[in-house]
Amino acid sequence: MAQEVKTTCPYCGVGCGVIAKIDDDGAVSVKGDPDHPANLGRLCSKGSALAETIDLEGRLLYPQVDGIRVNWDDALDLVASKFSEAIAEHGPDSVAFYVSGQLLTEDYYVANKLMKGFIGSANIDTNSRLCMSSSVVGHRRAFGSDTVPGLYEDIFEADLVILTGSNLAWCHPVIYQRLAAAKLERLHMRIVVIDPRRTMTCDIADMHLAIRADGDVALFTGLLAHLANGPAIDHAYVESFTNGFDAASQSAMGYSLPEISKATGLTIAELIQFYELYEHTEKVVTCYGQGVNQSASGTDKVNAIINCHLATGRIGRPGMGPFSLTGQPNAMGGREVGGLANMLAAHMDIENADDRDRVQRFWNSPAIATKPGLKAVDLFQAVADGRIKALWIMATNPVVSMPDASAVEAALKACPFVVVSDMFATTDTAKYAHVLLPSLGWGEKDGTVTNSERRISRQRGYLPAPGDATADWWQLSQVGQRMGFSGAFDYTGTAEIFAEHAALSGFENRGSRDFDIGAYSDLTKPDYDGMPPFNWPQPVSIGTETTRFFADGKFFHADGRARFIDTTLPQTSRIDVAYPLTLNTGRIRDQWHTMTRTGKSARLSSHIAEPFIEMHPRDAMEAGIDSADLVEIESPLGKIIVRALVTERQARGNLFVPMHWNEQFAAHARVDTLVPPVTDPYSGQPASKNIAVKMQRFQAE
Ligand code: SF4
Repeated sequence: MAQEVKTTCPYCGVGCGVIAKIDDDGAVSVKGDPDHPANLGRLCSKGSALAETIDLEGRLLYPQVDGIRVNWDDALDLVASKFSEAIAEHGPDSVAFYVSGQLLTEDYYVANKLMKGFIGSANIDTNSRLCMSSSVVGHRRAFGSDTVPGLYEDIFEADLVILTGSNLAWCHPVIYQRLAAAKLERLHMRIVVIDPRRTMTCDIADMHLAIRADGDVALFTGLLAHLANGPAIDHAYVESFTNGFDAASQSAMGYSLPEISKATGLTIAELIQFYELYEHTEKVVTCYGQGVNQSASGTDKVNAIINCHLATGRIGRPGMGPFSLTGQPNAMGGREVGGLANMLAAHMDIENADDRDRVQRFWNSPAIATKPGLKAVDLFQAVADGRIKALWIMATNPVVSMPDASAVEAALKACPFVVVSDMFATTDTAKYAHVLLPSLGWGEKDGTVTNSERRISRQRGYLPAPGDATADWWQLSQVGQRMGFSGAFDYTGTAEIFAEHAALSGFENRGSRDFDIGAYSDLTKPDYDGMPPFNWPQPVSIGTETTRFFADGKFFHADGRARFIDTTLPQTSRIDVAYPLTLNTGRIRDQWHTMTRTGKSARLSSHIAEPFIEMHPRDAMEAGIDSADLVEIESPLGKIIVRALVTERQARGNLFVPMHWNEQFAAHARVDTLVPPVTDPYSGQPASKNIAVKMQRFQAE
């Protein structure tokens, strides 16, 4: 008889519930789960095509060492011995894990525990560094903890929704669909899109601000200055619950409107229209995505946005607040278990001695990392210069997705020992692995993910493991045991790992409501298997209603008060004669990351079949480029060749190229080979936008 399994989509941070139906003949179909609060039955094109991507073509089915099939014992013994040798000879900081927002929370938890609590290094970073780490730091600076204040329902209840650096229609499609539906019902709702391109999201916008790349700090600093002496400032809120308003607002008022106009590329009339709309609308939600985070000023952008919400008291109340849209399915789950090089588990702080002591005692571990580890860009630079002797990459493809991707490729080639755990043997990264470990994929693996609104949902396995593929947590646990840490890594399943993770979040009642799912520490396996989606915090007991953060004006800094951050305007005008154009990278509607899964679906690939460069007609004319010509784009780091798409949707001087295509699908089109390894100074997040390039029509020699 056909069987139905409730699970969660493995793509973006919306975290949609999916019902997978398995027919008697094994055929799989999917539909949206009407009971899941994130999507209420909707799915986007990628989610709807999930069943088209689960065939075994290209799958890595057996462990391999130097391209030769081996059994699990041999592979795991080799990994454990090589890591142990490197640590014995060069110390714990000579090894590293590079993990992924595709991992489930249970995988992430075990990886983090092994590296930080047993190996004794914090050299574990994640591709989530590339998508939301500026938001993490922005939250911590403002709130004293990495807490997303809002819920999805706030977006649909707001009277003004600001979408900055977010092509919601393509990158978070189900939230876009729900927002479009809400706008049809609530005719007074206004939507402002802030983006150098007129994207599909602008179809529902009342105002589009074609901002200069990295103009967001200036835009929101100018907004704070505009608000500062007006009626929208909530003086009682500012007085009671925050610090730093006077300094931040005085600093903001130091910039004139013409200066803000120059830095943003927007006219003074556009600025005033936007500022007045914000000022006179009480229920405002500001959603932001990679256009904010992926920047050398990403953290300041986040804080400039939060400053305006704090100043107006528009936070912690229905229909109001800043809202970070996470890119990956489990970027948030990784944050919960400390899967970033500068965090500990359960949102504790690696630089806080009490937190380190608490985690070490809970784990009963022989060591604990005492300082932050290498963030993604620094980590691969350490691989390149020989400081990292053994590297384990899980569920990600850095040879395509990291900035200066060619240098990452060269670093892996030179690294003495590289392990790659993946579903596929065919990724651009897998070919540099000394050891390849086959991992379970969506539909096969089992655990939890957390979406952008802190909702924890189950991903459930319903397909048999192909070949010898295993869960990532199992591989990590086996290596931990073989490195001599038996007892701490003898897990028998994900329910047990989730319960331990929950117990750590509530351990010793650490007085923080930031992240506490301690009530789930007694969860039985049947409870875990049937666990419905829920938001944290859940401080009292399972089943209590979702608690709204900051409703009581209490934040997580030691004095309980939020902080305004005084932000400095970055340089946004470009004077580079050799590379005069500004390239922004991003996503398209129907592909996910480096296409290893979505590239399997002909239906998805028919949306946009090849990589392209979007450019304004004047820029095209000046370069002698016609629509559909091949174009060579060059930065100081390299060149790629893609197809021209000439359109007035793109602002003059700006270019857009999608980040998905790998060598398997399009040779010479890896856009991240052009991206310099420039990072935000606070978060270490790479700037995948605002890249200086030049272009010319490609002519074959
Ligand atoms: Fe999956 Fe995101 Fe689409 Fe939902 S919106 S179906 S989570 S890709």
